[in-house]
Formats: sequence, structure tokens, C-alpha cells
Amino acid sequence: MRVIAIDGPAGSGKSTVARALAARLGLDYLDTGAMYRSVAFAALQRGIDPADVEAVSKMAADVSIDVGPDGVIVDGTDATIAIRGLEVSQAVSVVAANPAVRTEMVRRQRAWVADRDGGVLEGRDIGTVVFPDAELKVYLTADPEVRAQRRSKEAADLDYETVAADLARRDAVDQGREVSPLTEAEDAFLLDTTGLTVEEIIDVIAGRIGAGDD
Ligand code: C5P
Repeated sequence: MRVIAIDGPAGSGKSTVARALAARLGLDYLDTGAMYRSVAFAALQRGIDPADVEAVSKMAADVSIDVGPDGVIVDGTDATIAIRGLEVSQAVSVVAANPAVRTEMVRRQRAWVADRDGGVLEGRDIGTVVFPDAELKVYLTADPEVRAQRRSKEAADLDYETVAADLARRDAVDQGREVSPLTEAEDAFLLDTTGLTVEEIIDVIAGRIGAGDD
């Protein structure tokens, strides 16, 4: 079973890298951030306070989430665009700090991998918690300004300051939470993508595959 784990903060290049790497290796790709965003979206849709631990835990057990290459369907609704909006971005970190939500999402992520006998997964805790035995674990970083610039280019309706503030706040919550905080696995390959093009990043990472357990 081939599992590749790509972790790191928002805007570090995870999605682009994970997608390209999956295509190169002939594997499927899973954006686990989209799953946590989907839970936050579902809570907002149902009028549940994202910080209501009990209500969100209960909801996470039965919410239908389909994260695919062409989009994201939550409880039968196309949420592809909405999960990237500011409202969901501002609610997602508190939802992702909920232990029951994490347990349920990790269960679904492992089932996704078991179904296809491998894959490339990107997130915050793939190498540390979800697949600590992954064939390759990559931890991407980049300067905060560069990460905010990348994200604000994707979110045309939001100005740089708004995106930068959202990113800084999410970094702090994701790194500071008690359950599965954002941190690099001890044996992860650490790569700062600040000055690198997508091609350069992919080449460096692809060069690590099959390089063994060093
Ligand atoms: O990757 P993305 O920025 O879309 O992730 C959104 C949020 O989902 C993160 O800020 C984090 O709170 C949460 N997340 C997580 N664990 C993952 C993936 C994402 O806690 N594996």
C-alpha cells in the first residue's frame, strides 16, 4: 500500500503539490482540509454554532461528505465554492479542534485509503496521526507573507490583509490545539517552498520517493 503524507500550514503549497504528485504516481488524492471545511459548512447550514462541541460532534457522525477531484458535495449540496469562503474559513479551526470531529474524519480518511489501497493525502496531521507509517512524509512551509499572497490570489474576492489575518489566526489555533496539533512528524522531509516554483517542489519531493527510510 502506497501512502504519501503532505502536511503543512495554509498556503504552503500542499494542494498543488499533492495533486501533481498523485498524478505522477498514478494515485488518488485526498484534500483532508476540505473534509474539515465541509463539517464547518454543514454546521453553519444547520444553524449549529461551530463552537458547540456536543452538537458539532453529533452532527459529524452522520454528515455526508464527498470530497472528489471535481468538487465537494455535503449532504447532497454542491459546497465546492462555499467551503473556500471566509465564513467557513473562520469557522473551520474551532470545528477541527473538536476531538470527536477528528476521530470521525480520521476514520473516514483511513477508509478512503483502504478502499483504493493507497493515495496521496494532504492536511495537518497525516504524517503524525492518520498515517504515521506513510511511505513518505513531507512537511511544507513558506514565509507567512508568501503563503498569504498565494491564498489571496486564489480568493479573488478577499483582500490581502483579510487573508493574511485569517491565515495567522488559523495557524495559531491549528498549532495550539490539544488534539493533533499542526506539527511536523519527526521523520518528515521538511521543505521550505518560499522561493520555489511548483515544478521545483515536485521534482525535489519526487526525488525522495523510494529513497528509503533515511
Ligand atoms: O487545508 P485547509 O487550509 O483547507 O484546511 C482548513 C482547516 O482544516 C485548517 O485550518 C485546519 O484547522 C483544519 N485541518 C485539520 N487537519 C487536517 C486538515 C485540515 O485540522 N488534516
